[in-house]
Amino acid sequence: MMKVLVTDSIDQEGIDLLMSEEGIEVEVDHSLKGEKLAEAIPAYHALITRSGTSVTSSIIERAENLRVIGRAGVGVDNVDIEAASRRGIIVMNAPTGNTLAATEHTLAMMLAAVRKLPYAHNSLESGVWDRKKFIGIQLYKRTLGIVGLGRIGSEVAKRARAFDMHLISYDPYIKRDKAEKLGVELLDDLDALLDRSDIITFHVPLTDETTGMVKEEQFERMKDQVVLVNCSRGGVIDEKSLTKALKGGKVFMAALDVFSQEPLPGDSSLFGIERLIVTPHLGANTEEAQKNVSVIIAQQVINVLKGRSYENTVNLPYVRERLSPELRAYFDLSEKIGRLLSQVAKGRIEEVQITLVGSLFAEDVGEKVFDSPFRYQPFTFAVLKGLLEINLQEGVSFVSAPYYAREREISIVEAKAERVKNYSDMINVKVTTDQGSNTVGGTVFADLKGRIVSIDQFLVDMVAEGTFLFFTNQDRPGVIGKVGTLLGENRINVAGFYLGRESYQGNALGVVSLDSRIPEAVLEEIRGLEEILDAREIVL
Ligand code: NAD
Repeated sequence: MMKVLVTDSIDQEGIDLLMSEEGIEVEVDHSLKGEKLAEAIPAYHALITRSGTSVTSSIIERAENLRVIGRAGVGVDNVDIEAASRRGIIVMNAPTGNTLAATEHTLAMMLAAVRKLPYAHNSLESGVWDRKKFIGIQLYKRTLGIVGLGRIGSEVAKRARAFDMHLISYDPYIKRDKAEKLGVELLDDLDALLDRSDIITFHVPLTDETTGMVKEEQFERMKDQVVLVNCSRGGVIDEKSLTKALKGGKVFMAALDVFSQEPLPGDSSLFGIERLIVTPHLGANTEEAQKNVSVIIAQQVINVLKGRSYENTVNLPYVRERLSPELRAYFDLSEKIGRLLSQVAKGRIEEVQITLVGSLFAEDVGEKVFDSPFRYQPFTFAVLKGLLEINLQEGVSFVSAPYYAREREISIVEAKAERVKNYSDMINVKVTTDQGSNTVGGTVFADLKGRIVSIDQFLVDMVAEGTFLFFTNQDRPGVIGKVGTLLGENRINVAGFYLGRESYQGNALGVVSLDSRIPEAVLEEIRGLEEILDAREIVL
């Protein structure tokens, strides 16, 4: 008999589903937290929580029989994933259960904003019958700019069409035909969307690229009397710039469900501003969404316990831990190669080709160790995770990465090759986009450290770990000195330098390993140097 423990309140439907399964016993006890949970945990094979239970390493260490931890919701900050992976425990979440709830909340916010509903309500409640003050605007024939056309952005688009709105979107990571099928015009840059939209709604994850993607400069580009809705993540719209734009009369109305700090502090500058509607992160707060996440997580836990295939795993303990130390180093390197490619490739990804070179990869290790409908080699899962997570982030795990790739219609090609010239074993990954292709090769030396040995036509030798400055330049004397001086002046410590030369075109690739991140302003300065063709920061 498999025992499942539920320590936070989840919808009854999920519990019923678990109970209906033969060979599974369920116990619900919301009082089991901390030390009490550590004492009880050895008896259980699965643990289901929401955010109210901290699953710390000391609890995990005592979990002798635990095979899976399920989080009924998205965020898994409450679980020590590292500790779980070490013990071979799978951690799962349910990122898709609240898509429609968040979509409908977005539309509710949009309609409330264009008709100023909360203000009209409060005015009438206070006994004033004022109609002039609450003149709204119509959605009909207005241009809606959707930033991020993923699950929620797409559902918002479908519903906005019913209002006869003109739909435009900026999402650099989806293919054009997805937008076309949705009747959305896909733009190549955010500025074009800002210039043209009457209403802008955000549906992006919070990444380096999306943090503060709307600041003063972006507000200046927007049409006067624009309407803004953000039900994605706080921090996407810079709150200071928004406050300024609202006070200055640029914005007709803004509606926020998410904030850079949650709960919103009592002294937040966002309180008491005219033309701003706020809700306390209610996007997923519907009965149906709560039911969905509960049922999704219950079904996944059943799948793990019954040895069936499962989807939304945050970690991948089985695959990595069962590989030999050398293959494990290649597995980690594959993820780094994916990360590197996600930062150098430009355009919308169409194909990813993974070639395993050498006798080390002669035997297939994929099918034996991994229970997934995708019969890829483990290295492919790792490449895809590295490639997709920087820009999609939420929900991208080793297991879900191939689903994300399939959703985006990215073709995956796996190949094997005999030994190449310089290395006995290596992994080569080629990413093809609608704008070209990039190839990165990596190998593992005897110290079991993964190294990047080629980037496109350039041969390099860099340990695949840390922060780097990549630049391409005309191969002339003095360039390295200039870059080094600029870095020094800005107090950025250089840990190592690698050069790859492509003599036939007279260009060179410079890779500088750094002790700290490199601010955008310094990158701009480097790009401004005469010989520099391109410069960017790469974080592995
Ligand atoms: P998703 O991963 O399906 O879609 C996100 C889309 O954003 C992807 O298509 C991706 O390509 C795109 N994107 C990434 N970086 C971008 C960039 N720099 N510019 C433009 N587009 C970019 O995610 P989803 O399920 O649609 O969720 C969207 C957001 O909504 C997430 O941040 C999620 O946390 C949030 N969310 C909020 C609530 C709530 O309660 N308010 C509920 C659910 C989800």
